[in-house]
Amino acid sequence: MCAMKLKVARLFTLSLLVLLCSTVVLPVTLAYPAVEPKPVVPQQSATPFPSPVPVPTSTPLPLSGKVVFLDPGHGRDANGKYKWGGCITEDGALVYVEADIVLSFALRAKQKLEAQGATVYLTREDSYMAGNYRRMAQLHIFALENTFPLDGELRALLTDMQAIYDGFASGENKSSSGLEKIYFNTPYRKTRNIRPATKALFDLEAAFADRVLFISLHTNASAAVHSGTMVYYVDNKTNTKYYTNYQEARNKKLAEALFKYIPQEISLPAQGIARNDYFMLREHNFPAALVEVGYHSNPTDRAILTDPATPDKLARGIYLAVCAYFEVAP
Ligand SMILES: [Zn+2]
Repeated sequence: MCAMKLKVARLFTLSLLVLLCSTVVLPVTLAYPAVEPKPVVPQQSATPFPSPVPVPTSTPLPLSGKVVFLDPGHGRDANGKYKWGGCITEDGALVYVEADIVLSFALRAKQKLEAQGATVYLTREDSYMAGNYRRMAQLHIFALENTFPLDGELRALLTDMQAIYDGFASGENKSSSGLEKIYFNTPYRKTRNIRPATKALFDLEAAFADRVLFISLHTNASAAVHSGTMVYYVDNKTNTKYYTNYQEARNKKLAEALFKYIPQEISLPAQGIARNDYFMLREHNFPAALVEVGYHSNPTDRAILTDPATPDKLARGIYLAVCAYFEVAP
C-alpha cells in the first residue's frame, strides 16, 4: 500500500516537472515568426459525395425496346356500376369483380415488364370501362404515330382513329363519333368484307411484330364446373371473309408461351388453347392473345384469382411468356 503511494507521488512530481518545462519552452517556440499557414487545397475526397466510379458498360434489360399493350377487360359504367364483366355476389355483397381483378393483374404486370425494360401501355388505368373500339383505336394510333412518313391517306386515318378514341367517355361503351361503324366489323357479321382503310391499318401493323404485342386479360365463367387458364388467338381460317393476313404463327407463338408460363406460376391448371376471332384479336393486327385466367364461376379458381399473391405470380408468368415470345433470356 505504502509503496504504491510513494510511486504515485513520484509520478506526480515527474509530471509536474514536465509541465513546468513545457511552460518554459512554449514562449520560445512562439517567438519564431509565424509561418503563413499553407493554403488549404480542397481535396476530392472531402466532398460529401464520393467521386463518380466508372460504370461498366451496362447490359440492356431483357425487354429494352419492346412494347407491350395490356388490356384489362371490362370496367364500370359512367355511374360506377359494374355493368360489364363477371361479378359474384354473396349475401348481397360483391365478393368478386372481374374488371377489378384483371386491372390488378394488368397493373402488376406493367410494373414487372417495365422493370425489365419494356414500354407498357394499358387500355384502361382505372376501374371504369374503356370502350372496346377506343381500345382498338389506341392500337391503331400507336401504329400510325410510329409510321414514317405518314402520307395523306394514313394521316386522315389517324385523325379518325383519334376521333374514335376521344369519342368514348370514361365508363361508356358507346361512341359519340359513330366512326367505329365505318372502320370496324360492327355490328359483327361473319360475312363482312374488311374496309380498304382498315386493311391498310392491319397491313401496317404487321411491320411491328418483332417489337410490339398485345395481351387481353380476362377471367372466365361457365355454368358447368370448369377450371384453369384458356388462351385464345386469331388465325386466318376462322373468318376468311374479313381478313386473311393475321400473323397467325406469331399469335400462336404468343398464346403458347402464355399457356405455358401462366399455369406454371399460378396454381391453376392449363385448360387449353383455342382459335377464335374475338373482337380484341380480330380488329387489329399486332401479335395478340386473349387470356382467361381461371374461372371466377368456380369457387376453387376464384379463391386463387382473389389471393393477394396472385397478381405477382401472374405478372411473372406474363413476363416469362413475353420473353419467350421475343426470344430473349429473362
Ligand atoms: Zn371477360
